[in-house]
Amino acid sequence: MTMTGKTGRVLLIYTGGTIGMGKNPDTGALEPLDFNHLLECLPEFQQIRTSVSVFQFENPMDSSDMNPDVWIRLCHIISDNYSGYDGFVILHGTDTMAYTASALSFMLENLTKPVILTGSQLPIGQLRTDGKENLVTSLELAAAKDSNGHAIVPEVAIYFSGNLLRGNRSTKKSAENFNAFESYNYPHLGSAGVNIKWASHHILKPDFSKPMTPHFKMNPNVLVFSLFPGIQESIFRNLLEIPELKGIVMRSFGAGNAPHQKWLIDLLGDASEKGITVVNVSQCMAGAVEMDLYDNGFQLQKAGVITGLDSTVEAAVTKLMFLHGQYDDPQTVRRLLQTDIAGEITGF
Ligand code: ASP
Repeated sequence: MTMTGKTGRVLLIYTGGTIGMGKNPDTGALEPLDFNHLLECLPEFQQIRTSVSVFQFENPMDSSDMNPDVWIRLCHIISDNYSGYDGFVILHGTDTMAYTASALSFMLENLTKPVILTGSQLPIGQLRTDGKENLVTSLELAAAKDSNGHAIVPEVAIYFSGNLLRGNRSTKKSAENFNAFESYNYPHLGSAGVNIKWASHHILKPDFSKPMTPHFKMNPNVLVFSLFPGIQESIFRNLLEIPELKGIVMRSFGAGNAPHQKWLIDLLGDASEKGITVVNVSQCMAGAVEMDLYDNGFQLQKAGVITGLDSTVEAAVTKLMFLHGQYDDPQTVRRLLQTDIAGEITGF
């Protein structure tokens, strides 16, 4: 569906999520409905200044069912339509939105156009919905250009409740509040109140003279694993023996610490030798892993554990899938894990 007589062209990709859900009359539970339902609840859609085309998933999904195959599909939809649009808005459930945003930020190299993910906490058909503002503002953000005709936000971002955040720095922080996302280790890219304000110096600057390069391979054989007091050797050993395992995001304590146990260091060392990449990400929401601060962090480093610096878990796990999908050589994966490739980590 395309509308004419408008400024800017945006492709709206509807994957599902609460924004488009309605109540099942029998069970009362929320279930995904198609885009026509969403349009019926949003008569204002016709007044939007941007020309919007819609790509709707045939089976809109709850984002808890999101997976790397769908990320590859999204990557194809964006790259196939790249030249025809000024920007893209992805309507997505909030539960795994930060994972999808992170994955796409790695898969769409040298992105020169906005890819804005949004959704809502209340369905668009409910009186107090946050979905209308989130959707309408996201369309505006996706079409916004500077005086040179370049996109103002040429990156994968999440727009939610007035805040524009870098996608691979975002985390869902609340299942209750409209203000559901935060970027703890990176400043906001902008805010939308009465006016839209951009934090231009925090927004990525791609090379506009070069093409965007999509990457369609992800290796999902990875694991996220949290350390906790009392962790057992036999359980950890069994995990590391899974034959398909390529990489682990290890959620450590504080600034990257782990229990001072010889068996743990030995098992991590064996895993590195087998070519399993282990990335150390803190369980804290804010701050970074500093493995040379305390002796047990230092031991982890000696065992081949890689610092995830100030990465979110969402960015670390999708980056592992991405790098293991692109490269067979564990050394290249290890090197790139510590390199900022899409604004996801801060080097110190
Ligand atoms: N379960 C929903 C989803 O992620 C929640 C939401 O959209 O807010 O699809």
